[in-house]
Amino acid sequence: MSTVYIVGGGLAGLSAAVSLAERGARVVLYEAAGQAGGRCRSYFDATLDCVIDNGNHLVLSGNRAVRDYLRIIGAHDALAGPQRAEFAFIDLETGDRWTLSPNEGPLPWWIFSGGRRVPGTKAQDYTRLAALLTANSAQRIEDVIPCKGALWDRLMRPFLLAALNTTPEGASATLAGAVVRETLAKGGRAYRPRIAHPTLAAAFVDPALAFLAAKDGKVHFSQRLRRIVLDANHAVALEFPDSTVPLSADDTVVLATPPWVTRELVPKISAPDKFHAIVNGHFKIAAPAGAPLMLGVIGGTAEWIFAFPDRMSVTVSAADAIVDQDREALAALLWRDVAKAHNLSATLPPWQIVKEKRATFSATPEQVAMRPKTATAWRNLLLAGDWVDTGLPATIEGALRSGQKAAQLAWLRRNV
Ligand SMILES: Cc1cc2nc3c(=O)[nH]c(=O)nc-3n(C[C@H](O)[C@H](O)[C@H](O)COP(=O)(O)OP(=O)(O)OC[C@H]3O[C@@H](n4cnc5c(N)ncnc54)[C@H](O)[C@@H]3O)c2cc1C
Repeated sequence: MSTVYIVGGGLAGLSAAVSLAERGARVVLYEAAGQAGGRCRSYFDATLDCVIDNGNHLVLSGNRAVRDYLRIIGAHDALAGPQRAEFAFIDLETGDRWTLSPNEGPLPWWIFSGGRRVPGTKAQDYTRLAALLTANSAQRIEDVIPCKGALWDRLMRPFLLAALNTTPEGASATLAGAVVRETLAKGGRAYRPRIAHPTLAAAFVDPALAFLAAKDGKVHFSQRLRRIVLDANHAVALEFPDSTVPLSADDTVVLATPPWVTRELVPKISAPDKFHAIVNGHFKIAAPAGAPLMLGVIGGTAEWIFAFPDRMSVTVSAADAIVDQDREALAALLWRDVAKAHNLSATLPPWQIVKEKRATFSATPEQVAMRPKTATAWRNLLLAGDWVDTGLPATIEGALRSGQKAAQLAWLRRNV
């Protein structure tokens, strides 16, 4: 029986492994780190004396790959969130607070209701967003929709910044269009916010590892792939520091490593090479009663504040301008916004700052054009990862879909 070797135990690699194991394929996964999850991981933080996630991760109720993946690994109840799509915001400069309350169905009548839409906006501001759906791959968002005004400042900019992790004005209009097509255009039912509960690992990682173990999948940690030996048409061996795995032409390799690693292993593969940071601040303080699960912040450094029973966490996307500041300064800067937004004491609670310098690739048209397809020039070498050409930005949904696609192609190869 042929084997599918998966390299990289982030969500793309786990997704490929789970999808193949479910079909009955023989799966072996190698992960360089001592744990799985990659950029979507949880760990025990000694400073805060609790398990935290590297960063807050939001998914949406309409994310179909998330839904399928969680169903297969038996974690369909591991996401928390409100019954309806609702997004609370505060403008720190003006003190205005509002809650965006879209209706559930695809006909967006909520944009005609002053109490449901963003204050200061008109219904026709929203209808202009449809232009994103027909954008071409060379266009930036600013080429397609107006990047000013209340709708932009108070909704679309923060929403697209979070989804693309790139300054939205210059980001790819087609990627923005894909996000709008799968969320806003489908109605509130498709974009109820969902957060892993109680941690990312509990939802996305631990149940996947348990599922793989139950299916006789093999997972090897602390195994960094050093080299892939390639001939003209096939990958013929995987070299790890202490062992070499010979490959037959029937075996398949799914390379689910980040783009910069993949390019080192197989330089001929095209991949994005510009990245943006995400900074997260975690504060050990119980969220105040009634605090929304997440609060969008306009006019501060903090962009989204997440409320957990034992901690509050702040996300700053495309954070390249602040990522090199020292941690104390960042903690103080972010707590100032949290305290103001939630009317809390200015005294800094115990904190942790997590910096991810290469959180995602830069979602500009130029970088998007560098995304490769799943199949490569080598018949038994496939790619997975949020940076592979999924048509979506670098997100959990994109990473999971890339793994599912690689699994599908690997499965089709099993009788080659
Ligand atoms: C702080 C932060 C916040 C985010 N917020 C959101 C969000 O709110 N919503 C959302 O949808 N997405 C979010 N994302 C994006 C999301 O985390 C990623 O899209 C997703 O986790 C990428 O998964 P991946 O498997 O493609 O890559 P990775 O997670 O990078 O996985 C690659 C794996 O390969 C391993 N590896 C590397 N080299 C080797 C080697 N030589 N041999 C073996 N293994 C190797 C790595 O250790 C890693 O485990 C966020 C990302 C970050 C960093």
